Parts: sequence; C-alpha cells; structure tokens
Amino acid sequence: MIVVKFGGTSVGDAAAIERATDIVRGRLARQPLVVVSALAGTTNTLLSIAEQAEKGQLIGALRGVEGLRERHLAEASKLLGDREAGADVAADLSAMFDELASLAEALSVLGHLTPRSLDAIASIGERLSSHLVVAVLCARGIPAQLVDAGDVMITDNHFTRAEPQPEMIAEATQRIVRPLLESGATPVVGGFVGATSTGVTTTLGRGGSDYSAALFGAALRAEAIEIWTDVDGMLTADPRVVDGARLIEQIRFDEASELASFGAKVLHPSTIAPAVKIGIPVYIYNSRRPEGCGTRITFDAPRRPVSAIAGKRDVALIRIRTPRMLLAHGFMRRIFEIFDDNRTSVDVVATSEVSVSMTIDDATHLDGLLGALMALGDVSVERNRGIVALVGAGLGDSTATMAQALAALGNVKVHMVSLSSGGINLTLLVDGDQVLEAMRRLHSSFFPVSQ
Ligand code: ASP
Ligand code: MG
Repeated sequence: MIVVKFGGTSVGDAAAIERATDIVRGRLARQPLVVVSALAGTTNTLLSIAEQAEKGQLIGALRGVEGLRERHLAEASKLLGDREAGADVAADLSAMFDELASLAEALSVLGHLTPRSLDAIASIGERLSSHLVVAVLCARGIPAQLVDAGDVMITDNHFTRAEPQPEMIAEATQRIVRPLLESGATPVVGGFVGATSTGVTTTLGRGGSDYSAALFGAALRAEAIEIWTDVDGMLTADPRVVDGARLIEQIRFDEASELASFGAKVLHPSTIAPAVKIGIPVYIYNSRRPEGCGTRITFDAPRRPVSAIAGKRDVALIRIRTPRMLLAHGFMRRIFEIFDDNRTSVDVVATSEVSVSMTIDDATHLDGLLGALMALGDVSVERNRGIVALVGAGLGDSTATMAQALAALGNVKVHMVSLSSGGINLTLLVDGDQVLEAMRRLHSSFFPVSQ
C-alpha cells in the first residue's frame, strides 16, 4: 500500500487531472490511497469569499462563488463531457456551490465569521476536488471510491488548525480505507480536511494536505508516500539564484527540516514527520515530469558533508554587551524572555563571555525589543544583513568542509559564524547584498559543474 498525494497544481485543471490519472494508473499494483488538495488557488478564493461575506460584501462574495463554480464545471466538462458521468458530477459540484452560496449569505447577515464557519467554507475546495477526481478515475476505468475525509481524519476542535488524533485516525483508516484497498478499489480522500469525533468539519491549517497524506500513510503503515507537486524535488540551492542547482535524490529528514526555515517551499518537513519517524520514505515528484527520479526523504539517508546551500536576506543582528554577564548565570534566560515578550523568534545565536549576538528575521517588534534589552547592557543593531547556510548531516565530521566554505567565500565579509551542535548547519552572517554572491560561490565550490 502506498499513499499518492496530489497538490493543488497537480489537480489544477483538466490536463493536470489527466496526468494525475495516468500516475495513479501506473501504481495500481501497489494499492494506492489517493489524497488530493483543492484545485490550485481554490482555498485562497474560499477564504476571501468568507472574508467578504463577513464584511457584508455579499455581491463580491457571490461573484467569487460563481467564479469557482464556472472553473470547476468547465474543467469537469473538459474531462467528462456533458452527458451521464459529466452531468452527474456537474450536479454534485453544483450542489456544493449552492451550499457555499448559502453559507456566504448567512455570514453576511451575521456579519461575524467564526473559525468553525471558516473551516466549513475552506473545506469545500477538497470536497470538490476529491469528487471530481473520483469521477474522472472511474470514467477512465480505475475503480475509485470516495472516502469522506471527516470519517477518517479525526481531529480536536481547534478550528482552522485542528490537531489530528492519530489513534482515532488509525482506527478509522484501518476500518474504512484498508478494506477498500484490499478489495482492489482505489480510495480517494480530500487532504487538509478533518472532523471532530462528533462530526464537525475542521481543517489542519494551510498546506495541510501533506500532513493528511503522512497521517494516512502512518495509519496504514504504507510502504511509501508520494507527494506530487510542480517542482522536480528538493534542489541543492534555489535555482532562481544559483545556476546549476541540481536535484537532491536522497535527503535526510533533519536536513530537509533545516532547509525549511529558509523558505524552501517544496513542503514543510514537520508535516511529514508522522510518517518519516516510523520509517516510511516520502518522495517528492513533479507531476509535469513524472519520469523524473524525485527526492526521497528518509530518516537515514547517507550523511553528506553538504547537501544544500540556502540563504536569506533582510536579517537583523542584535548584539548585547555587558560585563555583568561575566561568570553570571540566568542572563540568557532574561534575554530570551524579552524576545518571548516581544513575540520575536531568534534565529542564530553566538556568544562570547561578555556579549551575545542574535539574528532575527522579523523586525516588526524591534522597538519594544530594543527598549527592554537596553536594561541589560549595551545594545546595537545591524540591519540589512543576510544569512547563508550550508546544510549537511556530515558537516560537523569534517573540519576540511568548514575550511573549504570559508575559503570559497573569498572577500565576502563574514560577521558571525554558527555551527549547530551535531554539525548539520553551518550558518554565516554576511551583508544582505552579498547573500546571492555568497550562495553562488559556495555552490560552485561544493557542487562543481563537472561533478
Ligand atoms: N488546499 C489547502 C491549502 O491550499 C491544503 C493544501 O493544498 O495542502 O492550504
Ligand atoms: Mg497545496
């Protein structure tokens, strides 16, 4: 058994759904559970419909509903024609749009949007896409069966960010999904959507369908989870910045997690943790190029000194100096409490005996932060800095790698260095306008073109 999850762009229109159908067909022998996102952009539109309705802008909200209706019906008719199968699906989808329009009207009367009603609206995207995909699979001869996400993805009642309940999910998945798979059917379920144990619709938070795929995979003890998206997999660097960035065929989960903090948008590793932790490999594939080899994420991929280079700009460095820190204790606690009070997360830290340097990404609360920190010592701020990082599980094993990194940077000025314990991430603070150059130099040193 495997889980095959299609993201929004991989079911975004008729052509994408045809490709997804072929991908599923090629995997029937492995008994796939298919998890689908909403058609690309749908969730955003649904959220803005809810927002407009709440503000009383009913005409705008209903226009949004009609836009979604037209789009879904147009793709459905391209895929299924307008007779029989096509007409049935059109009727089912239309009923959901009528329901959406009534919800929007009710909200505009109430003028108040609760997280619970927001989830009722946001979940419609996956209800629509799963319905459509089942109909297309069946029309193409694949014995697909719709599974209602609310019957299997049991969560708590934290609407808009509901917490899945793994034991109940495992029980429901074994009871409902496994027999379908064993009988040769291909179950299809919407990602992102769940329900409380009393049946009220919830969602897992944005991007939640990867999380759904991982939870179902864990519940079934699947052999593999495939995440089909619109990029080839994880790359050695952002290809918009670095020429010659290449695919990472295998990456360790902890390396992927480090890269996620740099906004590597492919997927957020924490969402696949439930599966990877119990040894289920997760693959990322490009549904536009299904022949590609993709990226395999596991707990125990080989330890390479450097797997990828990442970077970001707009980082601020805060430095606190005070002789009082010498041989004192509790000092760090006081500093970090101030960051906590000002809701600012610290990214990289380096300390000496009398100073602490910390970087932050988000300077929204900088004024309050500085005011409070000044009570502890001399504070200085350097804005417009940037970070480049080498990520590799074997980085800490080899001093030569660190020497190579510093040598490759040449005359790029380094303001701070931090090697995470365990040595998976070597972070270098540089000037913001040197981030791209630093990334290019590091990449060509560690991933030379001829390699
Ligand atoms: N459709 C949802 C979203 O856009 C969930 C997902 O695609 O993962 O956030
Ligand atoms: Mg998505």
